[in-house]
Order: sequence, then structure tokens, then C-alpha cells
Amino acid sequence: MNSADIPLAHKHRPTRFDRLSGQDRAVAILAGFVRARAPIHVLLYGAYGAGKSTLAGLYARALHCKRPDVDGSPCNSCSHCSDPRNFLEFDVPKEGDSPGYLLELINLRMQNCTDRPVIFLDEAHALHESDADALLKRFEAVPCSATYILATTAPWEISSALRSRLHRVEVQVLSPWDSVRFLEEVAEAEGLDLDERALRLIAALSKGHPRDLLTNLDTVVDRRSGSHQQITDAQVRARLGLASDDFLLSYFRALVNEGADAATAILHDWPASWSSKSRWVQAFLLLWSKRCATSTHMLIHW
Ligand SMILES: [Zn+2]
Repeated sequence: MNSADIPLAHKHRPTRFDRLSGQDRAVAILAGFVRARAPIHVLLYGAYGAGKSTLAGLYARALHCKRPDVDGSPCNSCSHCSDPRNFLEFDVPKEGDSPGYLLELINLRMQNCTDRPVIFLDEAHALHESDADALLKRFEAVPCSATYILATTAPWEISSALRSRLHRVEVQVLSPWDSVRFLEEVAEAEGLDLDERALRLIAALSKGHPRDLLTNLDTVVDRRSGSHQQITDAQVRARLGLASDDFLLSYFRALVNEGADAATAILHDWPASWSSKSRWVQAFLLLWSKRCATSTHMLIHW
């Protein structure tokens, strides 16, 4: 397959801990378990798209790797790193829709495992109460037959008993500046030339989700036409199908010149969803926050 046909989100999926942007705390915890050769059960929690699955896969490979790097990262070349039996993934809402079924499925797949596998349960807040109780017994068994990673966007919906048996690790969405830095690194690796406003606009519209950042970058650039394309923010708007920003400008002008009531009235008249309006306001602020000292200056140069 031509390299340009591989989605950027797949091509640049981190395979080492030091390639995970903006997750220093989570990486420090998980890499510490790997270096100590301590396969601890963990609960990864955080917003949708923050990178919980990527982190889970990396932790699983690192735990099994026979030649991990000094920072705890997997070597990605030994047979243990690539053995699919070492990392078994389950989608709780899909595979746990009747009590007991998920646990049966886990038992079935574990029959093929020769080593202690890592079991990844995504959207673990959807676990049936009886399944959560059964898992609790597994965590308490000595020795435990598997290492469990539970992931969720709603940790408060997981029973406190289950949570207490897991080491909780927060996975955060990227900050706006980490998002821009991440996009810059990928753009440089791909030989793409995006101006700073284009990078900030993609960052603002992707809400710090690494996968969305790269999917939006893929939409904006034409990687088949070779490297060193120059991309401007106008091209980003055109390629992402963003609407006219007249309402946004009116909103900020009213905020500066007429006050909050006038600005709120414009916000109400703006024919877009509230999530879309919010994205635009964030994009505007991110685009100009470094460059402009005052709101008035922002409006002159928008
Ligand atoms: Zn390895």
C-alpha cells in the first residue's frame, strides 16, 4: 500500500511511551509498572477520543515485551510484542449485553493464551452488576490469571468496590498548545507546510482528541500530491466545509463595543448548533490568543 493511502491517525499512532503527547502523568505511572515488572490492574478514565485504547495497547505490549527500553517502552520487534494473544480487547456494551456472556467470552479467548494476557474492557461503565462482582473475585484471586485494563468516560458509574481494586489513571485530552505541537511534529514528519493559523484552527476544531487532530489534518491535505504543500487557514476552512464567520465577528464586535447582552442576542440568532458555536469561539480565541494583546486588535486583524 502507498504510504499516502495510510490514514495519518493509523500511521502516527504512538508505539512508544515517549511518543504520547500530553500524557506525561499517565505515562509515568504505567511505564513505572512496566519497569518494576508489576502487572497492575488499571482503570483508564477520561474523555472520548483522549487515547485510552492507544495507551492500553502500549501498556499491554510493554508488559509482555522481552526487551523493553529503559523508559519502559516496548521494543515492538520481539514476538511477545506482536502476539495478539497477549492483548484481548472487549467492548462492554456490545459483548456484555446479557449478564455472564462477557465473562464467558473472556474465558473462551483466554484458552488460547500461553502467557498471562492483558484483558482490555472498553466502556467499562456499562458492566452488569453481576459481571462487576465476578470481576472483583478475579482481581482478588492469587495468582490472578490476567491483567485487567478497564477504560471509561464515566468512572463514577463503576462500583466503588471495583474501582478500589484498580489503579486509577486519568487520560487527558491534549491542551490547545500540545495539540498544535503534535500537529507540527506530524506535519514536519510528512513534509507538510501548514502556516501557524492553519495549525491552530485544526487544533481548536479537534478539541484535543489526537485521532480527530490527525483525521482533520488528513482531510485538509492532499498527501498524494507530494510533500511541501503549503496550507493556509483559508484552505482549512474550505476543506472542512466551515461556514462563514460573519456571526462570530459580529458576536465579538458586540462583546467589545456593546456589552454582554448584545453579544448574547447575536449568539441566539446565530443559526448553528450550540456545539458548533462553541467550537468557533474556541477556534477564534486560540487563533489569536498569542498574537494579539487586546480584543479590539483581534477584530481588526480577523
Ligand atoms: Zn518486544
